[in-house]
Amino acid sequence: MIVLEAHALTKSFSGLQALKGVDLEVEEGKILGIIGANGAGKTTLFNCIMGAFPPTSGTVLLEGRDITGMPAHQLARLGMVRTFQLMRPFHTMTVLENVEVAAMSRGARGAAVRAEAVGSIERTGLSEWAGHQSGLLPAGMQKRLELARALALRPRILLLDEVLAGLVPSERAPVLDLLSSLRRDEGMTMVFVEHIMAAIRVLSDHVVMMDQGAVLASGDAQTVLSDPHVIEAYLGKELPHA
Ligand code: ATP
Repeated sequence: MIVLEAHALTKSFSGLQALKGVDLEVEEGKILGIIGANGAGKTTLFNCIMGAFPPTSGTVLLEGRDITGMPAHQLARLGMVRTFQLMRPFHTMTVLENVEVAAMSRGARGAAVRAEAVGSIERTGLSEWAGHQSGLLPAGMQKRLELARALALRPRILLLDEVLAGLVPSERAPVLDLLSSLRRDEGMTMVFVEHIMAAIRVLSDHVVMMDQGAVLASGDAQTVLSDPHVIEAYLGKELPHA
């Protein structure tokens, strides 16, 4: 089943065409990786899908329903949740409190709030940090907190914006393992924007390469990452391997 579809999405910012007719499809339980050089339009695509702003034209469908321009809180109720490249927890609150706020925002009340939050914290390996102030967490734990808050919303599809950005390699592996296990154990559908090609190779069932607001290549990771047009368009010469 196709969970998420975008058809002919365009987005113009006072003359600049950031998206030029983007089509994509994400199947249930699969992971779509989106790559592209800086300014290719990846974040704009996420913003249009998640209703941060409406596309100039085109449509977005979630499980066949037209959700074009629908705001994030309504999308969360329909099962689609986004994490941000720059995390937005309440810094003076503890990890547990932050995840409780997320659980409450999807309607949990009373004892269910704590239970839901503890479940998400355990799932993301944050139990030891539950009582720590969120703003003081190391970067790797902050990423997990972002994921814990997203999971407390009980998504069926997760959109991840550079979830590995700012992490050193030793911090990346556990986050990658977590994402793999979400797909394996819970059949979570995911779309992720990522500059780290090792992560694209490990996680993606399908890869879309964006260039100047358009889809330049689409296919399995091996095919897309070895496409000479992709290699040329990405930073002009060589794919980042880090
Ligand atoms: P990066 O990898 O650096 O995050 P990206 O692929 O996500 O890049 P976008 O942030 O989507 O690229 O930007 C695509 C183009 O749209 C860029 O030229 C950018 O300057 C422009 N753009 C994005 N958001 C806005 C905005 N709110 N107002 C005006 N121009 C914008």
